[in-house]
Amino acid sequence: AKASGKRQWCQYQPALQAGLAERHELNESLDSAISESAFTLYYQPIVDLAGGGLVAFEALVRWPHARRGMVPPEEFIALAEESGQIVPLGAWVLEHAAAETTRWQRTSLAPRAVRGRAPLHVSVNVSARQFRDAGFVDVVREIIDTSGIQPDSLILELTESILMRRDDRVRADMATLSDLGVRIAIDDFGTGYSSLSYLREFPISLLKIDKSFIDGLGVSQQQYALVEGITRIADTLGVQVIAEGIETTAQRDLLAAMGCPLGQGYLFAQPLTVEQAGALVREDAAL
Ligand code: C2E
Ligand code: CA
Ligand code: CA
Ligand code: CA
Repeated sequence: AKASGKRQWCQYQPALQAGLAERHELNESLDSAISESAFTLYYQPIVDLAGGGLVAFEALVRWPHARRGMVPPEEFIALAEESGQIVPLGAWVLEHAAAETTRWQRTSLAPRAVRGRAPLHVSVNVSARQFRDAGFVDVVREIIDTSGIQPDSLILELTESILMRRDDRVRADMATLSDLGVRIAIDDFGTGYSSLSYLREFPISLLKIDKSFIDGLGVSQQQYALVEGITRIADTLGVQVIAEGIETTAQRDLLAAMGCPLGQGYLFAQPLTVEQAGALVREDAAL
């Protein structure tokens, strides 16, 4: 058990078999975790598939818990979305990912610039509820100001569920973000109501092909053709593809051969602690 401020963590049973009362308690302990900023970010490398260089990190939130260890996002993001707690939690994630990346850029900018490479980018998950919150664009603007991050180093990962509705607010907010210089990625492409028309309807810079497609690459000719087709169309529209969940060298080689520019997955690195990620930035070695 931890001292005073964190005592509330110990007051509930494991959340997985959560009933109503337990969910209530989990909500309350999420509340105190939010007010105490008791979260931590892991950073998973996104690499250039042709050369192996580190291009960006995806920030992935975890909740270090006194009894349950490092609680993965699957166990609290949905709950935070339901309750609206994702709004302050998401702002915390953005703020910290932007601040950390700015620090990393300062340690690595000079050598990268010399070799003509872009500064390190950071990619942050934004849930639908968080995006629809009226204050979202202002939060992004404020975080750019306070962190000093170059806006085009910041990537926001949105899911298709946000684009699906095609409403005017979404359109206006995307335009504002795009004017700010922030880049927008579609996350988990292929799992939802995928439509390549999003790529010309909205200011999208990147598209992340879901792991389920990458899993089938070497197995099914159809999967291969699908991924290759998506990559080619995206390229024509000036959209960069990131292949998610690359676990084997065979997958990497097939993707590189079809011209997919970027990849992410356990083959290169698991999500890293801030210290491990910082060491990687300083080494600047190929992955
Ligand atoms: P996602 O955005 O699709 O993130 C990728 C997930 O796949 C991460 O799980 C990552 O650890 C895992 N992964 C990466 N490479 C591989 C691989 O090669 N093989 C396998 N099997 N898995 C791989 P994680 O960190 O547990 O995050 C799960 C989900 O939680 C994320 O899926 C995202 O939807 C959500 N999430 C994480 N952080 C945040 C956040 O700050 N805000 C919001 N709204 N959602 C978040
Ligand atoms: Ca993501
Ligand atoms: Ca994803
Ligand atoms: Ca996913």
